[in-house]
Amino acid sequence: MQFKTLARLGGKHAKNAIAEAVYLQTNLDFTQPISFSGLINERCNVKCRYCDYWRLKEYQDELSIKEWQDALLSIKAFVGEFSINFSGGEPFLKPGFIDLLHFFVSRVFTVVLLQTGLVYLK
Ligand code: SF4
Repeated sequence: MQFKTLARLGGKHAKNAIAEAVYLQTNLDFTQPISFSGLINERCNVKCRYCDYWRLKEYQDELSIKEWQDALLSIKAFVGEFSINFSGGEPFLKPGFIDLLHFFVSRVFTVVLLQTGLVYLK
């Protein structure tokens, strides 16, 4: 992550903290989401004991890569720069996920990945 991006996001978090304080005092809401969670898929290549995903008989429909791209641009139009935490299941099992990461990062967003790290071992 570039320092400038980090600084901008830090500024947005600080601004939001002030907006939250104003909201609590006055009920005037100037807050805006900055961080999002994106559940890419439910499929996973691991079977953790405490997890239910790998026990599912059927998986929910997933957004296509194009639908993800449209959604991310729509969020950007609404809140400006933001960070997103992509998770699953195992997001790297979704065909085209790396293309989605390139799309996201190339538009100066911040991404965090929660994944098993085991996809590349095979
Ligand atoms: S890695 Fe995550 S999604 Fe996969 S089985 Fe374990 S807890 Fe569930």
